[in-house]
Amino acid sequence: MDKFMERAVELALENILSGGQPFGAVLVKDNKIIAEGVNELHKSYDVSGHAELLAIRRAQQELKTNDLSGYTIYASGEPCPMCLSAMYFAGIEKAFYCQPVENAFEVGLERSKIIYAELQKPKAERLLSMVQIPLNEGQENPMKLWKSKLTKKDNDKSSRV
Ligand SMILES: [Zn+2]
Repeated sequence: MDKFMERAVELALENILSGGQPFGAVLVKDNKIIAEGVNELHKSYDVSGHAELLAIRRAQQELKTNDLSGYTIYASGEPCPMCLSAMYFAGIEKAFYCQPVENAFEVGLERSKIIYAELQKPKAERLLSMVQIPLNEGQENPMKLWKSKLTKKDNDKSSRV
């Protein structure tokens, strides 16, 4: 096994010993670990406290950038849809994982597999009801306002939003 994946699995094992879920992740660039994370749901009331997201958040805060293109994630467990989305937003193009969501499902960590299945369904058939409420007639349009204020500089900063 690759040394970075070994570290991700080691983090997952350590996290279990401290009462957490079996997930660890490392963010790598140029053959170096830039940030690490473990699942912290046992420590904080924050559903975004997943290993991959925390590694991404730490790197972005440290490097003061939203652009992590060229970085690679090594995750002990297959990333959930939330962490996968964060990778897309951050421009990460490669992720390795060790244990697939099916393995997590088998031990009672069911959400990732369920959400992946949800995303395959048409909106109307999903468990989470999502209903559009359009703008009022004549109400200021946030999208159009943003577009009208867009400058070159803003464009560079917001291109992944
Ligand atoms: Zn996740």
